[in-house]
Amino acid sequence: MKVLVIGGGAREHALCRSLSQDPVVTELHCAPGNAGIAQVATVHPVDQLDGAAVTALARELGAELVVVGPEAPLVAGVSDAVRAAGIPVFGPSGEAALLEGSKAFAKDVMAGANVPTARSYVCRTPEEAAEALDAFGAPYVVKDDGLAAGKGVVVTSDLAEALAHAASCEQVVIEEYLDGPEVSLFAITDGTTVLPLVPAQDFKRALDGDQGPNTGGMGAYSPLPWAPEGLVDEVLETVLQPTVDELRRRGTPFSGLLYAGLALTSRGTRVIEFNARFGDPETQVVLARLRTPLAGVLLASANGTLGELEPLRWDEGAAVTVVVASEGYPAAPRTGDPIEGLAEAEAEGAFVLHAGTEEGPGGSVLSAGGRVLSVTATGADLAAARELAYRGVARIALKGGQHRTDIALKAAGQ
Ligand code: AMP
Repeated sequence: MKVLVIGGGAREHALCRSLSQDPVVTELHCAPGNAGIAQVATVHPVDQLDGAAVTALARELGAELVVVGPEAPLVAGVSDAVRAAGIPVFGPSGEAALLEGSKAFAKDVMAGANVPTARSYVCRTPEEAAEALDAFGAPYVVKDDGLAAGKGVVVTSDLAEALAHAASCEQVVIEEYLDGPEVSLFAITDGTTVLPLVPAQDFKRALDGDQGPNTGGMGAYSPLPWAPEGLVDEVLETVLQPTVDELRRRGTPFSGLLYAGLALTSRGTRVIEFNARFGDPETQVVLARLRTPLAGVLLASANGTLGELEPLRWDEGAAVTVVVASEGYPAAPRTGDPIEGLAEAEAEGAFVLHAGTEEGPGGSVLSAGGRVLSVTATGADLAAARELAYRGVARIALKGGQHRTDIALKAAGQ
């Protein structure tokens, strides 16, 4: 199978790594990719948001499956363009991707499907926002309605800050605060059948102890030894299947990856948000544990034949990923610095997935984004996987580079 992956972050590197290990994959391409992806796939320049350009590339390569990684191309309708050309594509239509692209749409679908989520108001004016904030009280949760690359949500006890964020967005969703630990649960679906993957947890704040600003994610681990038994079945039954059924009923069937961000509150499991694609950095640990070859699963989602697949097989052990970010991330990341120690990190038993990197002169690798690397390791348990991942991180040299030291620390019982 010839496969083309769209995107260029650590999530796409994880996807490409798994696809490159699948014996049915004869050719692997990625656009635009990054310096790490270039080691396992042939990379091509492309405007990811241009459906016609992506389709032309897929045709030229004779791709038999296109996998769209990030949300922006999905919302822009890139998978619609590829599908219209008769090429199987993993990823929802632009309309179905609104589940991520519009928080108001997601709330409406959840209401229709009776899916448990935070109570909320959609507000368009400062007056409406003030009223909604007053109704819920602190801590305040204010979400930009549109795609904001993980930066659209403000959770604060400061009313002025909440009002200011609301005023800076055209339309906001203001909702009740959900307490309790967060879980990310991914499911692969073809619009009818829903196959949940294993749960993971990510770390959104920049600094140890969940301090500092929100980021795209600073690390992740799987499994969650503390999660209640039966969580996956419960979420399948109360969240994932009803949402997929509701979208089909509305005439916007959702195929691809449905990501449920959940809060396990004292009053039960609630959806914090849906995403329409693999999450980053959770994908790095979830795919590290998947034993079933990936390409066949993604193709079955694209072709509507997921119901015919054997149950997915998983590694019983654990996986941990630690993000190495550049100096100044997330506010003002500095780029263009050389990265050293990549081979040494892998010699320690970790594998290094690249996020924002590019090839520099003489085969060197340069930082090219906020999140630079996702240093990942597996082990018999979380403590073992952590140990290897952090040994790997210790070998990486990046000027001003930063990482959290407490990824999976509590869950590993350390
Ligand atoms: P999101 O971009 O929707 O993933 O939100 C970013 C982060 O904001 C989440 O991972 C949560 O930690 C937090 N968050 C979002 N919604 C809520 C809520 N209703 N209550 C508490 N925290 C929230």
